[in-house]
Amino acid sequence: MTAPLLKVENLVKHFPITGGLLGRVVDRVHAVDGVSFELAAGETLGVVGESGCGKSTTGRCILRLIEPTSGEVTFEGKSVTRASKTELRALARDMQIIFQDPYASLNPRMTVGAIIGEALTIHKLTKTVREYEDRIVQLLETVGLSADHMRRFPHEFSGGQRQRIGIARALAVSPKLVVCDEAVSALDVSIQAQVINLLEDLRSQFSLTYIFIAHDLSVVEHISHRVAVMYLGRIVEIAPAKALYTDPKHPYTEALLSAVPIPDPQIKRKRIPLQGDVPSPIHPPSGCHFHTRCPIAQKGLCNVEKPQLKKTGEGHWVACHLRG
Ligand code: SF4
Repeated sequence: MTAPLLKVENLVKHFPITGGLLGRVVDRVHAVDGVSFELAAGETLGVVGESGCGKSTTGRCILRLIEPTSGEVTFEGKSVTRASKTELRALARDMQIIFQDPYASLNPRMTVGAIIGEALTIHKLTKTVREYEDRIVQLLETVGLSADHMRRFPHEFSGGQRQRIGIARALAVSPKLVVCDEAVSALDVSIQAQVINLLEDLRSQFSLTYIFIAHDLSVVEHISHRVAVMYLGRIVEIAPAKALYTDPKHPYTEALLSAVPIPDPQIKRKRIPLQGDVPSPIHPPSGCHFHTRCPIAQKGLCNVEKPQLKKTGEGHWVACHLRG
């Protein structure tokens, strides 16, 4: 078996909440609560869950845009979590991120050429002005834009085009792993499909590996080889995409899937409504975090014991006392 490109082990991120005159830590937001998974080169892992489940924080901790509280992240056998600043700068060439809001993430005062070219300059990837400009034009064309877009500013573009600029910026350093952090969530459905198709083409063209974060299971279905479902900082189910969509095991996955519209009107899916809102990550429920909303929770078990991920099939893992 080949070594994984990325290994995430027991990743934890707690954000301190300070209060009082002395600014003491009075509480903690349990954003990521022991997340582990491996990712093979060329694979796309979809990460799904409601807002506040810790999926974006997980992605950012992997790249160390946010410092994890504990846990270990290894990329190509090298520790990311223990990397020095210089080592991190080198790792930034291999690991990039595409953000949700393409407008907020693009400096409005910089031309598109300067935005895409910034990383080329930082990492000294081109030697002459001609080479620099040629590379920017090549990147623009790769994402479906054209050379004359180079001298324009972000506000002159539509949301979908701005996201293409964000993708070109991420590709500038020829990364191996790209975290797509809700990269299509802010776009219209038709534009979402175009950007997802582009990302799929780029994955095969450049042998990319993706962590594709979204709050909607329907968005990640076609792009993902495997899907991880997160709830309040934990992975509750992880499986090959087909197994997760056709044979979900966790009650939370079932509820999320029941809300995904099916294009074929002949097929009816029973809607499983989720009770209440996601509890606060400051004081997450004891035992199984999902027990306050779970339709099959067992008192005395689910509210007491934390379920561990158990294997239920080939590559299929679920964290539930009653399933698997
Ligand atoms: Fe529901 Fe209990 Fe399973 Fe949690 S462990 S998902 S509360 S049945």
